[in-house]
Amino acid sequence: MSRFFGTPDTVRVGQPFIDRRELHELHVHRPLQAGISGTRAEGADSIVVSGGYVDDEDHGDWIIYTGHGGNDSNTRRQIDHQSIDAPGNAGLITSRAEGLPVRVIRGRHSGSPYAPLSGYVYAGLFEVTDYWIRRGRDGFDIVRFKLDRLPEQAPLVTREAPDPDPAYATTTVSRRIRDTALSREIKKIYEHHCQICDEVIPGADGRAYSEGAHVKPLGRPHIGKDSLDNLLCLCPNHHTELDLGGMVILDNFSVARTLDLKPFAEVAFKRHHRLDLENARYQRRFWTREASAASP
Ligand SMILES: [Zn+2]
Repeated sequence: MSRFFGTPDTVRVGQPFIDRRELHELHVHRPLQAGISGTRAEGADSIVVSGGYVDDEDHGDWIIYTGHGGNDSNTRRQIDHQSIDAPGNAGLITSRAEGLPVRVIRGRHSGSPYAPLSGYVYAGLFEVTDYWIRRGRDGFDIVRFKLDRLPEQAPLVTREAPDPDPAYATTTVSRRIRDTALSREIKKIYEHHCQICDEVIPGADGRAYSEGAHVKPLGRPHIGKDSLDNLLCLCPNHHTELDLGGMVILDNFSVARTLDLKPFAEVAFKRHHRLDLENARYQRRFWTREASAASP
């Protein structure tokens, strides 16, 4: 079975689990021992935060997570250096590079107000936003990951407010999963070249970074489709500019500033990929209307 990214349909945010066996059987966290489920090639799909490392930090919707390796399971102290090449650590780095969502499970040991009093609790999907290596409290190099909780999920579970409304949980989260699969596809088609400026952003390890941008936004009130004819591969600057409404796409697929509608670049297309003009028109109408409403 291939690695599954996202929240399984049968699981909701805040759901409690008795033990690692149950997490395994419900496909929330497959390994029975390892804290990170993942490989360099596929990315990491889940982690368990259980306070096994003295350097972990849990801030609720963001966490600093220590990678694996070099830890004495009895004393919970570091006895050796960690490496970014260890499979789980390399998996989290791949998840960051490819924007894959990571399921976070909190165990009772984690000593945070978000940790359950017993067993485990599913905390929802997070994205890996940063990682670095530093000297840990025990004097060895550790790999640290920053994970931020993805928006549009049921509220966080704390000991004061357990068990959120289950009806809230599933639809928006599964939308993000589809989003990820198609985003990967669009990035692959363009080999991470921005369709507007052609830039490719290289990471430290040589892997390129780009973003899948929905032209007609997915969320309310727009309800755009998650489909390739509503997606562009963009650099972060042009993605942001599109989302903020600073630029619009014209009928001839050139891009223009929203304020004066003067074209400044063309959207480059490859192979059989095409943008549905209706999505471009929606985005343009929405933002030109906003702009004229804002001007005196
Ligand atoms: Zn660009």
